[in-house]
Amino acid sequence: MIDYKLHIPGPVDVSKGAYESLTKPVMGHRSPDFVDLYQKCQTLLQSLFMTDDPVFLSTSSAWGVMEGAVRNLSEKKVLCCMCGAFSDKWLDVSKRCGKPADALSVEWGSHIDPTELDSKLATGEYDLVTLVHNETSCGMMNPLEDIMNVLSRYPEVLSVIDTVSSFSVVSIPKDKWGIDVILTGSQKALALPPGLALFSVSERAFERAKTIEGRGYYFDFIEFLKNHEKGMTPSTPVIPLIHGLHYTLEKIFEEGVEHRHQRHAQLNQLVHDWVSAKGFELLPEKKFASKSLTCVKNNLDIDVAGFVKTLREEKKLSIDGGYGKIKGKTFRISNMGNESSESINYLLEQMDDILPRFQ
Ligand SMILES: *Cc1c(COP(=O)(O)O)cnc(C)c1O
Repeated sequence: MIDYKLHIPGPVDVSKGAYESLTKPVMGHRSPDFVDLYQKCQTLLQSLFMTDDPVFLSTSSAWGVMEGAVRNLSEKKVLCCMCGAFSDKWLDVSKRCGKPADALSVEWGSHIDPTELDSKLATGEYDLVTLVHNETSCGMMNPLEDIMNVLSRYPEVLSVIDTVSSFSVVSIPKDKWGIDVILTGSQKALALPPGLALFSVSERAFERAKTIEGRGYYFDFIEFLKNHEKGMTPSTPVIPLIHGLHYTLEKIFEEGVEHRHQRHAQLNQLVHDWVSAKGFELLPEKKFASKSLTCVKNNLDIDVAGFVKTLREEKKLSIDGGYGKIKGKTFRISNMGNESSESINYLLEQMDDILPRFQ
């Protein structure tokens, strides 16, 4: 039995209300009741994604759609912007899908430089760019608006933007910025259990997809579109999570989207203040630090594994001890989902309480 609260950057803590919403009865996925639920979510989703394009629900984790986007949209070559664990893996995934792909790679913690992207695209080699907006592995948020400005000069290049850990944390106006595919997952900032991915596709991306062979079935964007027109998904979806999504969307609009963004910014600042008060540093440059989570550089050389374990066992709070190659050299604290100044302050106090033991 889990007896601790999640403060890791995904999955994040799920509220009691959200859990309860999952227990609503399952209906047939071709029934009018399902169509009604789908349409209700759709209206709210289009508003939250700031788009007139359809927003699809995929019963998969985000990776399904990340892989699907590559299979649907590229026939020439993919340019994978790489700046952390998730974005790095996308190059490998593209190649495994049989697509020629190149890297535009920077060190973990650094951002993707729009000027460098520009010179890569100027070669004319690419028809698709993959980008992770908020690199969860190193707590770095890319300058998405500037990057989209560059992309707007290359109409033949489509963009796939992973906003798995930034969606609903900061404003990402999909249509205004010209994003072709934007995707997110249920278990990060939306604070639902894992298992549902959400994504929206532009008109020109549909046009491209129609010309691409080997799209497969499960993640075929054209299948999603055909079913969407009937208020349905291609195959049987994870209906409990769609009930949960509807509950969550209503909560988000009750709080107010702007207010939600402000809350996340404030909570993130609380953690940053703690970091500097203790003499720690951030892994990314301050200007590109994520608003969803904080990736703390272990410049004080504490015993991160011991700190994280004791916090979980004694204080019943779970933070993350660093991802992949920066495990132990960093630790990460999420402020996504339903966190409040009370819950974040409580976490920081408990961290304060045990930190001296590990210094
Ligand atoms: C968590 C995460 C993913 C992977 O999501 P899954 O749901 O495990 O497929 C991808 N990208 C980013 C930025 C993430 O934070």
